[in-house]
Amino acid sequence: MAARPRGELSPATRAADLTTETVVTARKVTRAFGGTTVLDGVDLRIRRGEVVALLGASGSGKSTLLRVLAGLDSGADGEVSTSGRTAVVFQEHRLLPWKRVAGNIALGLRGPDLARRTAAALAEVGLADRGRAWPAELSGGQAQRVALARALVREPDILLLDEPFAALDALNRLRMQALFFRLRGEHDFAALLVTHDVNEALLLADRLLVLEDGRIAEDIPVTLTHPRAQDDPAFGALRRHLLTRLRVPLRPDQS
Ligand code: ADP
Ligand code: MG
Repeated sequence: MAARPRGELSPATRAADLTTETVVTARKVTRAFGGTTVLDGVDLRIRRGEVVALLGASGSGKSTLLRVLAGLDSGADGEVSTSGRTAVVFQEHRLLPWKRVAGNIALGLRGPDLARRTAAALAEVGLADRGRAWPAELSGGQAQRVALARALVREPDILLLDEPFAALDALNRLRMQALFFRLRGEHDFAALLVTHDVNEALLLADRLLVLEDGRIAEDIPVTLTHPRAQDDPAFGALRRHLLTRLRVPLRPDQS
């Protein structure tokens, strides 16, 4: 698939693309480590602008699949094709400690307006005044915002996020989810959001995938309108379904 330059589509084409154009396709992706098959013929598609949450038990292969889609794993079999620029955000920020925040964001990029783009990305994540800070001077939440800015400055068509908010405290996680939702509205990236947080998936995703026994066992569209409320009965019904599927107790007294 050829990458299509951004900003060149007519509004009509763009609307049609939202429902039809596929930006990530995986076919029969298989990955084994030693004698253990972790991914066993995974098929998936992500459409332009679509946010897909990938859920699954710990060790089910979510990170392995994300790494294959990101092109970071050469040991997998099957086919993966992506259309457009891809950026990755991991659970840990992975900032270089010897570079200032702005240097980390601009790492590997060139261009006469790079300083402006870096500043714009920092402003978008609410850290306009932190460009000259060192990573060690940031809180965990700020560092993860910088990791998001580092992805955004690359103007991704596809954002791959591996439990990006999982290491944050509950309040920061909610702030980051709100930030992600706003950024997703302002940029037209598609996203694969690996998470073990069912609420996070239900708040943010257009579609939910459940990885089980090396395959996509469930593919569930989420048609709830935004802003989504956790006390909506339809939200609760989907939540119960997913928790049961993931074998998570629905109440603290169940195990
Ligand atoms: P998840 O992200 O869903 O928790 P992972 O994709 O990290 O799961 O891991 C799936 C399985 O593959 C685990 O059993 C893990 O130990 C194994 N695994 C992942 N990466 C490697 C590796 N590089 N070498 C050996 N085993 C691995
Ligand atoms: Mg993982």
